Amino acid sequence: MFDLPAQRAHLAEKFDLTPSPELAASMSDIYARMSRVVSPADWAIYAPYVKAINDLKAERNAVILGHNYMTPEIYHGISDFVGDSLQLAIKATEVEADVIVQCGVHFMAETSKILSPEKTVLMPDMEAGCSLAESITAEGIAEMRRRYPGAPVVSYVNTTAEVKAASDICCTSSNAAQIVAAMDSNTVIMTPDQYLAQNVARDVPQKNVVWWEGSCIVHEQYTAQDLRDFREWNPGTRLIAHPECPPDVVAEADFSGSTSGIIKYVTDEQPEKAMLITECSMASNIADALPQVDFVGPCNMCPYMKKITLEKVLYALDTMTGQVEVDPDVAEKARLSVQRMIDLSRKLGI
Ligand code: SF4
Repeated sequence: MFDLPAQRAHLAEKFDLTPSPELAASMSDIYARMSRVVSPADWAIYAPYVKAINDLKAERNAVILGHNYMTPEIYHGISDFVGDSLQLAIKATEVEADVIVQCGVHFMAETSKILSPEKTVLMPDMEAGCSLAESITAEGIAEMRRRYPGAPVVSYVNTTAEVKAASDICCTSSNAAQIVAAMDSNTVIMTPDQYLAQNVARDVPQKNVVWWEGSCIVHEQYTAQDLRDFREWNPGTRLIAHPECPPDVVAEADFSGSTSGIIKYVTDEQPEKAMLITECSMASNIADALPQVDFVGPCNMCPYMKKITLEKVLYALDTMTGQVEVDPDVAEKARLSVQRMIDLSRKLGI
């Protein structure tokens, strides 16, 4: 359990974390990347944490991998690499650092550890889970194999190491359709996201895609009627949905793609108004780079991703607590599933 008062007391003893407009002004190059969405007053609060974390990173030979759903002060302030799950998984294999701090959720840190067992992988809050990862166990995979004998199991990276170990190959939302299409079987089992699987089934009609009934608590909340209403009230807005949304939501959208696919689409298209039907921080993180795009509409926040804060990152890096460990036998099997995905993605040029 995260003991916030004790950790705050520890940080207050070791670091000067007093809000500082002067320090904030001296770090204006970093602030320029988030000035549209973070107020100067908030930046004065964040700046001492950002400086302390960046200094400690150098001391520890650490890198921070930041998911696209991190808040802007984490995404722009302290992350060395940002991206979607696939990009971060690949980056974990490439970085030379001794320590990886995973600013994302637990399964991402496990994936980094699986791929880089020699590195220390830190999770700033062990309770940053994921509704998808929690929806299935290795026994669930065994049950699907019993139901569909001989069919390969493609599991989303949003799964525990045990589930990855029990699967044949992993996928992310950016490569799921291509991975399923490349399977040497007519029937393909997809776990644990039923909506990603249904969206893939539409895009890969030559396969009989069957799925586990998990879902993401952020994306399942959107409805097709929400999108129709929003389009009526805000004509001209480009609606852009993540494929973890239900298929009728994706069908109502102008574009659907992974978080990196969404960034590329908005960057290439530069629509006047855009509504990102995904986690809230996505729009915030790209707002400054795209000043001519007006990001509008409601969004849903991931309570797991939002457990990661500057304070917790600083504490983890200072005390080297929150080290992620994976049983070596499980890790070996899970690594095969993730590595098969990375190799196939490279081969397919994704
Ligand atoms: S946004 Fe959804 S899939 Fe991503 S971590 Fe949160 S609950 Fe899991």
